[in-house]
Amino acid sequence: MSVRRIVMLGAPGAGKGTQAQLLAERLGIPHVSTGDMLRASVKAGSEVGRKAKTVMESGELVSDEIVIAIAEERLRQADAEKGFVLDGFPRTLAQAEALDAMLEALGTSLDCCLALTVDTDEVVGRLLRRAEMEGRADDNEASIRVRMKAYDNQTAPLLGYYRSRDLVAEVAGMGTIDAVSDAVEQALT
Ligand code: AMP
Repeated sequence: MSVRRIVMLGAPGAGKGTQAQLLAERLGIPHVSTGDMLRASVKAGSEVGRKAKTVMESGELVSDEIVIAIAEERLRQADAEKGFVLDGFPRTLAQAEALDAMLEALGTSLDCCLALTVDTDEVVGRLLRRAEMEGRADDNEASIRVRMKAYDNQTAPLLGYYRSRDLVAEVAGMGTIDAVSDAVEQALT
């Protein structure tokens, strides 16, 4: 597979994290999750973590300024030179534009936006199950509704942004992890 600079897009609970990680392992490139990085900052009690904590718990988006800075720092590391699977970034148009500018400055560009599609009812069910299993502070019903709205209003428009550049590959996110993972692989070949 020559597609190595990938953005994974999908509603909260669509299975982005799982599929991004599997794909990154298969391609031998880093899985870059801004959600994971933010959770690590919250845990470490850093300045970024303190700023992000309440926003994340509410289900709203952390500011573009903070997220763009952490994504940029990560993508500038040597292991991301050969490619990456971005999970949860970009989530706004400003972030998508910043990503383009960042890659251009590095002399490269995105290869693909993999869009995982799911049924909203199934997504809410998945998120509630994950809440029980992982005890994530942002997996309660109120926060899930806020996250869905943030996705619809701020992130879903990115599909149009990437579609206009013919970068979108859609994959149905329903089904077993293996079945979706196979579909992801097919979509990239
Ligand atoms: P995730 O693990 O990707 O679902 O992210 C968990 C939470 O972290 C989100 O609900 C946001 O509050 C925050 N977050 C993660 N990535 C971003 C991003 N690219 N832009 C803004 N907020 C983000």
